[in-house]
Amino acid sequence: MRRRARRVRAGGLAVLLALVVVTPLAPAGAGSATAIDVSPGLARPSPPEPVRVMLDDTYPPYSFRAGDGTLQGILPDLWALWSQRSGIPVQLIGLDWAEAQRRFNAGEAEVLDTVFHTAERDRIYLFSAPYATIEVPIVFEAGLSGIRDAAALRGFTVGVKGGDACIDFLRQRGIDSLRPYPSYETLIDGAARGEIRVACIDRPPASYYLVQKGLESRFRASPPLYAGEFHWVVRKGEDRLRETVQAGFDRISPEQRRRIVEHWLGEPLRSNLDPQTVQAVGLALLGIGLIGVLLLVWVATLRRQVAAKTRDLTQALAELSAGALRFRTLFDVINDAILLHDAESGAIRLTNRRARDLFGFRGGANDGGLTLADLCGDTPPYDAAAALDHLHATADGPRRLEWLARHRDGHPLWVEVDLRRVVLDDSGPQVLAVLRDITARKESDEQLARTLDALTRSNTDLERFAYAASHDLREPLNTLVRYAQLLERRLEGSDPSIAEPLGVIATAARQMMRLVEGLLEFSRVDAAGRGFDPVDAGRALTVALGYLDQALAEAGATVEAAPLPLVAADDTQVIQLFQNLIGNAVKYRDRARPLRVRVSARRDGAMWEFTVADNGIGIEADYLEQIFVIFKRLHAHSAIPGVGIGLALCRRIVERHGGRLWVDSTPGQGSAFRFTLGAVPEAE
Ligand code: ADP
Repeated sequence: MRRRARRVRAGGLAVLLALVVVTPLAPAGAGSATAIDVSPGLARPSPPEPVRVMLDDTYPPYSFRAGDGTLQGILPDLWALWSQRSGIPVQLIGLDWAEAQRRFNAGEAEVLDTVFHTAERDRIYLFSAPYATIEVPIVFEAGLSGIRDAAALRGFTVGVKGGDACIDFLRQRGIDSLRPYPSYETLIDGAARGEIRVACIDRPPASYYLVQKGLESRFRASPPLYAGEFHWVVRKGEDRLRETVQAGFDRISPEQRRRIVEHWLGEPLRSNLDPQTVQAVGLALLGIGLIGVLLLVWVATLRRQVAAKTRDLTQALAELSAGALRFRTLFDVINDAILLHDAESGAIRLTNRRARDLFGFRGGANDGGLTLADLCGDTPPYDAAAALDHLHATADGPRRLEWLARHRDGHPLWVEVDLRRVVLDDSGPQVLAVLRDITARKESDEQLARTLDALTRSNTDLERFAYAASHDLREPLNTLVRYAQLLERRLEGSDPSIAEPLGVIATAARQMMRLVEGLLEFSRVDAAGRGFDPVDAGRALTVALGYLDQALAEAGATVEAAPLPLVAADDTQVIQLFQNLIGNAVKYRDRARPLRVRVSARRDGAMWEFTVADNGIGIEADYLEQIFVIFKRLHAHSAIPGVGIGLALCRRIVERHGGRLWVDSTPGQGSAFRFTLGAVPEAE
C-alpha cells in the first residue's frame, strides 16, 4: 500500500514538473492543473519527499489564480508556511474541484484541501480538524423573490460546481435538476449569461466573483442553506501522513494564521492611535457623552418640574383667590358677630358684617380704625382695660364670658363672647372673638328674677299672714267651739228652736277650726328644717297607721304594705303623707265592698316611687289635677267631712322634698296615689 503510494507520488511528480513549466503560459482557466513548489528545502543533502496537495483553484480567496495564472490565496500561503515549519516541501496542485477530487482519489496527491465534510467522503478520507467555516447560500437573480431555502428551488435548474458538497445537500432534499459547472467562476459566468437563474455557491467565492465581474447588483444571496467547514484530508489508512501534516500545522501559531487570513480577507480598519490612547479617548468621549445625556435628562426633568410647579402655583393662586372670595362671603353671612383682635394690643384687625351691624358701624372689614374702646362702656368691669385683660387671658386657653358692650349710639348691649387664640399668619397671635347678642335674654332674665323676687316676697308675706291669721284665729275659735258645746249640753232636751241653730253654730265653728288648723299646718310645711335625714318609710307608715287605727277598724279595712325603703326626708312629713293618703282612702271608700289599701315602693333612679292604692270610689278624669288645689273639694263628696287641704298639703310636702305627687284613678274601681322621695345616697 505504502509502496504503491510512492509510485503514484513519483508519477505525479513528473506530471507536476511538466505542469510547473507550462503553467505561466497556460491560461488560468477551468480544467487546467497547476503545481507550484513552495518548499524551501531543495538545497538540503537529502531532501524529504515533497507532499502533494491538491485543491480547488477557483475558490477565492482561499485558493485561486492570479492574472498571470499563479495560484494564490490563503491556502497557498498557509501551505508555504507549513512547509517552512515542517521542513517538508509542498507541491500545490490547483485544479477544477471535480477534477481535483478525481485525481486525488486516483492517488495523484497525498493531501486534498478545501474539502467539506460529507458522509460519503467520510468513508474514504481521514479528515483534519475544520479550519474555516464557510456559509453556503443560494445566489439568485435579483428579480426573483422568495428564495430563502432549498424547498424554494423546486422548478428551477440549479447551477452547481461539479463535485461540490452542495450537490449531495440538494439531492437529499429532492432537488435533482442541477446543472454542473467545472468551477465557481464558470458557474457565475453561466448565471451572468442567463443559463441558470439560481446557483448554490459558497459565500466567499460567490462574493469574490460577483464583485470582480460587476454583477453584485444583478444577484442576491439567500440566508445560508448550511454552513460547511473546510478541512484537508488524506486517504483512509494514511494516519501517519495525517499526523505529519497536522504536526506541521501545529507549528503555525494562531497569530500567524490570523495574519495570513487577514491578508486575503482584509483587516478591520484600525486607527493610527495606540490602543491605550484610543481607549482613553474612547472612555473620555463615553464619559462626556454620558454627562451630556445626563445633563439632557436633568434639564428635561427640571423643565418638567418647573412646568408642573408653575401649573400647581397657577392653580393654587386661582384657588386662593376663589378661596378668599368664599371666605369673605361666608365670613359675612355668618349670623354671629366676629372680630379678630391683635392678641397683645387688642387692636381690631377684621370684623364681619354682623359685627359691624351689631355695634352700628358701617364700612369696610375693619371699619377704618374701629377700636376696642369704641365697643366698651366706661364702667368697670366692662371697660376697655378689662376687655384687654380678657384678650390676654386667652393665652391660657379659650374662654367664654358675658359682656356688657356699648352700641355706637351709646345704648348698652349684652353679648356672650367666645374668645380663642389663633395664629392665621406670621403677624403674630390673634384672638378670634365670636359674639352673640343676648340683650333680650338678659332683659327677660332680669325681668324673671325681679318677678321671682316679688313672688317669693309675697309668698313669704302670705305664709306669714296665713300663719298669723290661723294662729290668732285659733284662740277665739276655740272659745267659740267650747262655749257652743257648753250651751249645747245645758240646753240638751230643751227648746229645739234654740238647740238646733246652736248645733249649726257649733258644727260651723268646728269646721272653721279644722280649716284654720289645716291652714296652719300648710303654712308650716316650709318652716321645718331643710336638712333631710334617712327615714325608714316602713316605720313612718306604721306610725301613720297607728294614728288611723280606729278609723281603719271602723271601716273594716285591710292594709297591705310591701317592704319600704329608707328615704332622705323629714320623718314627720313622711308620716303626714301616709296619714293623709290612707285617711282619704278610708274617707272615700266604696261602702259596697271592704276597703283594701296597698302600699308599695319601687326604685326609679335616684328616687323611690311610692304607691298608696285603694279600691275606693275613684276620681273622674276631669278632676285628677284639681283635687291637689288647696280648699278644692269635689261637690259629690260634700257629705264626707273635709276642708280640701289634705292633698294640697301632701303635694307641698313632696315638692319640698324634690319629688312629685300625682294620681291614677278609675272611677268605681279605686285610686292609686303616687309620690317620689329621694333615695338615701349609697355612702350613707
Ligand atoms: P278633703 O279630703 O278634705 O276634701 P283633700 O285635699 O284630702 O281634701 O281631697 C280633695 C278631694 O280629693 C276630696 O274632696 C276628694 O273628692 C278627692 N279624694 C281625695 N282622696 C281620694 C280617694 N282616696 N278616693 C277618691 N277621692 C279622693
